[in-house]
Amino acid sequence: MGKQLLKWIGRMVVFILLTVISQVGGVIYLLCLPFFKKLKASSHRIALFVVVYSICSLLVVPALAPNFGRVALPLSKTGDLRPHTWWTCWLNRHYVTPKVKTSMARVIKKFQAEFPDQQVTYLDANFPFWNGFPLLPHLSHDDGKKLDLAFIYKNKKTKSVLKGGARSLLGYGVCEIPRKGEKNQPAICKKQGRWMYNFTRKLALRGHPTSVEADAWRTGRLIGYIAKDPGFRRLFLEPHLVDRWQLRGYSKIVFHGCHAVRHDDHMHIEE
Ligand SMILES: [Zn+2]
Repeated sequence: MGKQLLKWIGRMVVFILLTVISQVGGVIYLLCLPFFKKLKASSHRIALFVVVYSICSLLVVPALAPNFGRVALPLSKTGDLRPHTWWTCWLNRHYVTPKVKTSMARVIKKFQAEFPDQQVTYLDANFPFWNGFPLLPHLSHDDGKKLDLAFIYKNKKTKSVLKGGARSLLGYGVCEIPRKGEKNQPAICKKQGRWMYNFTRKLALRGHPTSVEADAWRTGRLIGYIAKDPGFRRLFLEPHLVDRWQLRGYSKIVFHGCHAVRHDDHMHIEE
């Protein structure tokens, strides 16, 4: 009896974990459970889940998402708007409203007229189904209207600009930290005991903090095009970067408060 209970608790934990990181993974896991009985080796069970999950994520979910007012962002890393990592897409974290997608296409067209061949890299967006289902750790990414973008980066020494991509494995956590004399909002939030504010710095796996830095000119121009686009309502960026990149003139760029995560490792935009 005890063994059986432990087995079900284990299954529950897997279901919750898969649901939290990919929304549909938990349900697909439940659907696979009856077939697991026929497979003895754990590796065969994992392989079955991965195959079924991948087919659903690639073919079924994108076909159903428009019924919930969401569309998938482009999957290709060679496109104008590209994911930083395929994990984002495999975990169904790349869905937005059609309005966000068309607004981004408009922004990129203007941006590329100024900087041909420069890609815009997206990080986490939203899950495909149901409003109010947050994409953790971003609590507000729950309605298809939110999108995180990477800054544009350049090599510190050679000054050559990277075509796309971000600064760490997941795209988050390597910050353009406040310099001496600049407003230090992270320190202010830390003083208020807001530990969540610095949470993303813990996600800075495999960062490249010494060789790469944000390209102020290109990133600032991209932010300007977003702020001027009628499809976007507001953009979150740390106050010291608003000053450093001379973006004070845009009323849509706002500070998000200490309850959110810091925004000097990426920018957050909203429809
Ligand atoms: Zn965000």
